[in-house]
This record gives sequence, structure tokens and C-alpha cells, in this order.
Amino acid sequence: MSKTSPTESSTACCKVGRITQRYDLNGLDDELVRYWTDRTDQRYSTRDLAEHVNQRILESALDEAGLQYKDGEVENTYRLLTGDDVSSGTQVQTRKELERDSIPIDEVESDFVSHQTVYNHLTDCLEASLESPSDEERLERSRDKLGALRNRTAAVTEDTVAQLARNDVLDVGEFDVLVNVTVSCKDCRQQYTIRDLLEQGGCDC
Ligand SMILES: [Zn+2]
Ligand SMILES: [Zn+2]
Repeated sequence: MSKTSPTESSTACCKVGRITQRYDLNGLDDELVRYWTDRTDQRYSTRDLAEHVNQRILESALDEAGLQYKDGEVENTYRLLTGDDVSSGTQVQTRKELERDSIPIDEVESDFVSHQTVYNHLTDCLEASLESPSDEERLERSRDKLGALRNRTAAVTEDTVAQLARNDVLDVGEFDVLVNVTVSCKDCRQQYTIRDLLEQGGCDC
């Protein structure tokens, strides 16, 4: 970690660019774009990305101070410094320990970035953008969403019937709950289960 020289700050695109240089965060831009535009459930939000950047800053500061740390320790220290669920006493204690280990924690914390800063860096400096999902991805997501809703409807129905039966309000033996959602095309009056309709990509008419 070196002090910012005039040439550094003049070539840096924004705060993210400056801290990338100051902390030698190699490959950070590639990571940010890759994690942000990842087309799976693993995709990072800009909040996740800001956390990632800040943890890399902290890690670099620990390296610079020659500190040894175990797997997961950087993440945990970051959580102790910034977590909503961490008491102020614990935060103060964590800062003290870092200062004792010659880490300029005030400076490090002022270098932490917000999700808005990361977003601006991605879209303005790196000109990255989120592609809109493909038709197949939209169908996939919709299938998942409706599947979850069906499962939930089944679970609530089962609970309700079971509870009424337990209280002798309802007389029923062993039972199963089936949830079928039907979509009816008004043009041709054909009916489909939602599953079939999504599967075949439209009505036959
Ligand atoms: Zn930038
Ligand atoms: Zn039709």
C-alpha cells in the first residue's frame, strides 16, 4: 500500500480506480464485471460487489502489515467492522486490535466503497451493462417461481385441512393435496396446465 501520488490519482477513473492502484487489487475490474454479469443464481448484486471490494482492501492492508490470517478471517474481520448485528463495543475492540497490528484502520475504512460507487464504476468507467435475460432464461425463472408457488399452496392447504381434521371440524381420512393451475386460451378454448403451456411455448391455435 503506497501513498497516492499525483500521477496515480490523475489516471484513476474514480474512487474504485484509485483504491485498485493503491492496494494493488490485481484483476479487480475483471472480477467485478464477471461477477456482476454472471447469468446464474451466483450473480453478485452491487452490494455483494462492494463487500467483495472492501474485503480485498482489508486483505491487502493485512498483507501490507505482514499479518498472517486464516481462511475466512478477512471476511470475519470485515463483518466485525461493518456488520449491523455487531455491537459497537465489538467494533471498537476490532479496530483497536487492527491498530495494534499497525493497520491504519481509519484510512482503510475511508477507502471502503459503497454499492453506488461500484455501480457507477461498472457502468460509467467500464461501460458494463447487464444483458437482458434470454427467452429460455425467462421461461426457466417463471417455471421456478410458479413451481414454488404451487408447492406453497399445497403446503398451506395440507396444513389447513389437517388442522380442521384434528379439531374434528372436518371429516377426512388420509389425504393428498394436488395443485393444478390451468390456463385457458380464449381464442380456441383449449386448456393447458401451466406446466404444459410453458413447455410447448404457446397455444396450438
Ligand atoms: Zn471507475
Ligand atoms: Zn388457442
